[in-house]
Amino acid sequence: MSQQRMEPASATLAHWSSPDGDPPTIVEGEGCYVTDDEGEEYLDFIAQLYCVNAGHGNGEINAAIEEQLSKVAYVSSAKHNDTRDRLADELAEIAPGRLSNTFFSISGSEANEAAVQIAREYTGAPKVLTRYQSYHGGTYGAGSLTGDPSTRAALEPYGGTATGKFLPPLPEAFDAEGEELAEKAANHLEYVIRNEGHETVGAVLMEPVAGTSGAYPAPEGYFERVREICDEYDVLLIADEVITGFGRCGEWFGIQTEGIEPDMLTFAKGVTSAYAPLAGVLVGPEIADNVREGGYDLGQTFGGHPLSCAAGLGAIDVYRDGLLENVRENAAYFEDELRELEAHDAVADVRGRGFLWGITFRDGEEPFVDPWTDPDADNPVGTVVEEAAERNVLIGAGRPATQVICAPPLCAGREEISDG
Ligand code: PLP
Repeated sequence: MSQQRMEPASATLAHWSSPDGDPPTIVEGEGCYVTDDEGEEYLDFIAQLYCVNAGHGNGEINAAIEEQLSKVAYVSSAKHNDTRDRLADELAEIAPGRLSNTFFSISGSEANEAAVQIAREYTGAPKVLTRYQSYHGGTYGAGSLTGDPSTRAALEPYGGTATGKFLPPLPEAFDAEGEELAEKAANHLEYVIRNEGHETVGAVLMEPVAGTSGAYPAPEGYFERVREICDEYDVLLIADEVITGFGRCGEWFGIQTEGIEPDMLTFAKGVTSAYAPLAGVLVGPEIADNVREGGYDLGQTFGGHPLSCAAGLGAIDVYRDGLLENVRENAAYFEDELRELEAHDAVADVRGRGFLWGITFRDGEEPFVDPWTDPDADNPVGTVVEEAAERNVLIGAGRPATQVICAPPLCAGREEISDG
């Protein structure tokens, strides 16, 4: 068969099919603002991908990376490094409860895959339950843990590790609200665990506040019941804190706003304020011993890269220095500003916590069809994201893309919040 020679294409493929439209080419950043290649300045109301939590161009984080670079750039992930060890100590200090040991990885997707591997080794039970409409990553394994249909669509033809999806506590999923919703949604999780055979279920993996898929927090009481159910059936509860970690919800970790302790916790993005790639899994002493003694290999060359760990130490200092307080002080103001949009016909609702908010659109009384899953559907979110960019504000499209997400750097003050 003769093959036609193709012109070499040099476009970056990442996110090329996103409904975000045609984003600007960013060349510089400072605080809550970024500048494109034509000198246009934008308010970064999405912290790029909910990750530049300390804001752009932070001198303290830059200096921490430079200092590490002047000492040693890389030390094998199978050896000790003082910077990596110091970051592990810091994480143990800020993490909830007994989570005191960190396995370092590179991305949120890989951290979730490692968490699943660790949970399976520890429990001997293969199944991992995740929520329908969750997002846990785009790689082969993490993508199949993801409950968002548009992510799974690209992976499902090739199989994967997904073993069960249960419904998130969304009012529309259970036709209930508040306490009743918390109870019905938690009962549904219990139903799925029992029907899967509880001895086959090793872990439940959930975002404390669903991020990419709509910034929806659970109703009060939901997480407490989930904790009880996991304890009753000997199932590990893993909190995916890739978005909610490092101050986004006003505490170090999102699960701390729910008052429960998970058995494991995964993080990425904000750990370094995205100044360098880093992720990880936090576990308690028993699971850590099992990893040490288990003799199975989780290693990755760039897991816990010293430059990234230095960025992590720098970022944690910056968060300690008033950024968590800033979120707590301004979260109610942020909410009030956004709730004004609920008066608009096209807005179905506004939901979120801290500095993580989603605005869901509707078409009259009906929700819009998701343009991620149906490319022929109207794309109001793409239009809103593009129009915001034309007004020099960057926001994100959610999945399903019937909503936009606002998640500025945690240094945003009232002026930036109102402008957004
Ligand atoms: N988990 C959650 C909750 C996320 O939002 C994301 C990414 O947005 C991931 C996991 C995957 O992280 P990464 O893109 O670093 O692989």
